[in-house]
Amino acid sequence: MTANQNHYPLVEVDLDKMQENLAALIERCHDSSVEVAGVVKGATALPEIVRVFAHSGVRFVATSRIDQLRSIRNAGIDAPLMLIRVPMLSEVEEVVLLSDASLQSDITVIHAINAEAKRQEKIHQVMLMIDLGDLREGFWDAEELVDAAVEIERELKNLRLIGVGVNLSCYGSIKPNKRNMQGLVSLASDVEKAIGRPLEYISGGASTSMRMVLDGTMPYRVNLLRLGEIVLTGQIYGCYPEFTHKDVFTLKAEVVECRDKPSFPVGELTVDAFGKHTHYEDRGIRRRALVAMGRVDYGNPIDITPRMPGVEILGASSDHTILDVEAVKDDIKVGDVLEFNVSYASLVYLTNTQSVQITYRGGAGKSFNKV
Ligand SMILES: *Cc1c(COP(=O)(O)O)cnc(C)c1O
Repeated sequence: MTANQNHYPLVEVDLDKMQENLAALIERCHDSSVEVAGVVKGATALPEIVRVFAHSGVRFVATSRIDQLRSIRNAGIDAPLMLIRVPMLSEVEEVVLLSDASLQSDITVIHAINAEAKRQEKIHQVMLMIDLGDLREGFWDAEELVDAAVEIERELKNLRLIGVGVNLSCYGSIKPNKRNMQGLVSLASDVEKAIGRPLEYISGGASTSMRMVLDGTMPYRVNLLRLGEIVLTGQIYGCYPEFTHKDVFTLKAEVVECRDKPSFPVGELTVDAFGKHTHYEDRGIRRRALVAMGRVDYGNPIDITPRMPGVEILGASSDHTILDVEAVKDDIKVGDVLEFNVSYASLVYLTNTQSVQITYRGGAGKSFNKV
């Protein structure tokens, strides 16, 4: 076995395509005076990927988890880091140690961060989150938000209030639009009046807010977006720019069985491996291929798509994915490696498991496929 032999399932990351996505998106943002926080949690903050973000001109590298912040620091990457999940009280020490800035929505946690920053002799930057209807994190009451801002500004000496932000399109499926963006700007103005100075950042959300930058409808005071998915996959629901690569990631899996079988299960039907009643369509005898990867690797099979036309996913258990290959039966045999497109929902799992090998194309390291 040679050192660089591939083990399947495997995800190949084209760092050059990802870098081009980043550069193109950042350029459009900068044209609208918007800075970018590059969100790397979708690819588990793999150092090779974070390095591309860190060298791209993002204002912060951002992620949701402390362990990812630590692995970024351990990889020697010294970009400013932002924690984008509002922190647990139990992780305050690490928040201050490992991040430069964090999103906040609770005054008890904010007090604890200030005390810890004092202990560590640091000034920690905070952005207050406002909930404008998506009903995940954020202050709901405007007065409570302004009070927190004033307290940070006047009394919590080891914190610096850098701005306010909103999160949308996550739990409540709320679409960023002129109305909620103007609501954000107006709340930011209330905070600015109360503290007597302008805020550095008004952060209008994540990838789903990019559409408003591209179509020129983002209010000009919104000047920071936190972008992950649209960089990694080149698109997000409702926004499919023509200038981005949609194939930064390629999932590869090996065929371990390929034969004709009935399409309707034989015997007494009960539930599948996950306790679910499943519907099976009887299409007669058809060629099926089994590939050695399953839900443990990528989550849900609806989040991966075979690249070869004519290949259809029938289902999956923990370690197997079952494909209908009747339309291409002469082109597939045991030992073949099939390619799949991956969506964000599968990427978070694929990059977060020891079972999947990750290889890189391009990037500063140019580890293989030099051109
Ligand atoms: C995950 C996350 C983002 C990035 O979301 P994308 O859809 O990947 O751009 C931004 N902000 C917060 C608070 C997040 O949790």
